[in-house]
Amino acid sequence: MSYEGCFVPRYKRNQAPAGNAGHSIRQSVNVSALSNHSFGSAFDINYVDNQLGQTPALCGSRGSVRELVAAANRLKIFWGGHFNNPDGMHFEIS
Ligand SMILES: [Zn+2]
Repeated sequence: MSYEGCFVPRYKRNQAPAGNAGHSIRQSVNVSALSNHSFGSAFDINYVDNQLGQTPALCGSRGSVRELVAAANRLKIFWGGHFNNPDGMHFEIS
């Protein structure tokens, strides 16, 4: 298993204020546009086999995180693999 990180103060994809190539000052007024990673309430694992926008690795295959989803859900941690644009590496507290 690989771990790609938790706390990264950044905007959600495509929601940064215009200008500064998405690296604008992070302001609380834009809280709904900030990624859960900005609050340390999300983490990414097994990036190589679960990249954004791709079908996450299937159960039993290299890098699959699907086996963790039921236990995570019981802890109110939700999986990005269920997003409309799947983010299989991503888990977040909601
Ligand atoms: Zn993530």
